Amino acid sequence: MSSTSAVFAALAPYGWDRAWADQFAPHAAEGLLPGRVVRVDRGQCDVITAGGVLRADTAFVTPPDPLRVVCTGDWVAVEPGGNPRYVRSYLPRRTAFVRSTSSKRSEGQILAANVDHAVVAVSLAVELDLGRVERFLALAWESGAQPVVVLSKADLVPDPVTLAHLVRDVETAAPGVPVLTVSALRGEGLDTLVALVGAGTSVLLGQSGAGKSTLANALLGEDVMDVRAARDVDGKGRHTTTTRNLLALPGGGVLIDTPGLRGVGLWDAETGVGQVFAEIEELAQECRFHDCAHDSEPGCAVTAAVETGRLPVRRLESYRKLVRENQWIVAKTDARARAELRRDWKRKGAEGRAAMQAKRGHLR
Ligand code: GDP
Ligand code: ZN
Repeated sequence: MSSTSAVFAALAPYGWDRAWADQFAPHAAEGLLPGRVVRVDRGQCDVITAGGVLRADTAFVTPPDPLRVVCTGDWVAVEPGGNPRYVRSYLPRRTAFVRSTSSKRSEGQILAANVDHAVVAVSLAVELDLGRVERFLALAWESGAQPVVVLSKADLVPDPVTLAHLVRDVETAAPGVPVLTVSALRGEGLDTLVALVGAGTSVLLGQSGAGKSTLANALLGEDVMDVRAARDVDGKGRHTTTTRNLLALPGGGVLIDTPGLRGVGLWDAETGVGQVFAEIEELAQECRFHDCAHDSEPGCAVTAAVETGRLPVRRLESYRKLVRENQWIVAKTDARARAELRRDWKRKGAEGRAAMQAKRGHLR
C-alpha cells in the first residue's frame, strides 16, 4: 500500500487535502484505499486512486434514498482488491448538487459532490435573461458552492460601454457573486477564470449554447474528448477506455462536467433563492408584518421600494416566481427526511462562502 505522502502527491491534484485525509483515517486503518469518483454508471463507478483509475462496484453505497447514492466528486473508501472490488463507503460531502426529477417521482437526484465553485456561463450572443441567471444562481447557492457568473462570447459585444452595462445588470441580479467576462475565441478574461477555478472543484452550468464546452476546453488546454477518454487498466488487468466526468486542470483545480449537470432544475433551494434576492430579503425585514407576502399588505417595504424605483419590478416578479416554484417542489417531497442533510450543506456553504470573501475581494 502506498505511503501517506505518496497518496497525497497523487491525489492532491484531484482535491485531496489534510481534512479529507483525517476523515479517511479510520478507513485507511481497515486497509481501504482513498479515491475520488470520476464517473458513475449502472452499479459501477470509476475511482481515481493513488495507483490509477479503478473500477468498483457501488452495491454498498446505493441506499434507497437517491440523495445518498455515491456520485461523481465523492471521496470514497475502496477495497484494494477483489472481484468485484467494492466501494465500502464515502466521506461526508462538503457540498452537493441536486436536481429535481420529473413530477412523477418527486425525488431529487444527486449530480455532483464536493463542488467549491459553480461557474454559470451566460452567453452574450443572445439577449440577457436575468431570470434564468437567477435560477442557476439559486441552485448554485443551495448546493453550498460559491457561484461565479461568466459572461461568455464577450467578443460579440465590442463596445466597452455596452459590455460594462451588461456586467452591471448581471451584478444587480447576482449579489455576492463575481461577474467575469470571457472571450474564449480571443483568449480574453481566461486568466481570471483560471485563477478562480485553480483551487478546489468547479462545475460549469448554463443553457445549451452558453459556451460551456468551449470554456472547458480552454481550461483544460486541449480537447476535452481526448482527455476524457483515458486508457486505464481495470480490476482484471484489462485495458479499458473510460470516460471521466472529473478532470484535473493543468492550471490547478478540478472540473466536474457530467451530462446531468447541464440543464439542472431547481430543488428545494430556499436558502439559494434568499441569497440571490438578498436585497429583497433585507427590505422584507422592514415590512410591518413578519409574514408579509409583499403583495398588497399595508406597510410593505418591498412594494414601497418598487414604487420609488429603488427595486426593479422585474426583480420582485422573478423572486415571487422562484419562491412559488420552490414551494411547489418542496411540497412534493418529504422535507423532514432531508432536513438533516440540508442543514449540514447550509452550514458548510456558509463556511465556504465566508472563506471565499477574501478571494472575491482579490478578484474585483
Ligand atoms: P455549450 O452548449 O454550453 O457547451 O456551448 P459551446 O461551448 O458548444 O458553444 C456554443 C457555440 O458558441 C459554439 O458555436 C461556439 O463556437 C461558440 N462560442 C463559444 N465561445 C465563444 C466565444 O468566446 N466567442 C464566440 N464568438 N463564440 C463562441
Ligand atoms: Zn412586504
